[in-house]
Amino acid sequence: MPMYNYRCKQCGHEFTEVHGIHDLPPDCPECESEDVQRLITSAPTIAKGILTPAGDGHKATKEQLKAKWREETPKLQKKLRDKLGDKAIEDIPSLNPNYDD
Ligand SMILES: [Zn+2]
Repeated sequence: MPMYNYRCKQCGHEFTEVHGIHDLPPDCPECESEDVQRLITSAPTIAKGILTPAGDGHKATKEQLKAKWREETPKLQKKLRDKLGDKAIEDIPSLNPNYDD
């Protein structure tokens, strides 16, 4: 599990918590305030490539782009399906989720 550093906005106490990435921030152990701020110490390297804004995409590796594509494809499919219907999706092979070229 990842480790996070927090600073309490109420009393200024800094503390470290180990919890899942989707869990809510913990309360301050000193004053039990929920008003805590996560301190960014270091971002995982992979996030850099994926979060790179469009136009700067050449910095992402092929693997990162593939991962991003896999993540985006279902959303894209749903969008198209809502708009065009299921048949349209079947006719677009490149939107197959197993597409791996
Ligand atoms: Zn506090």
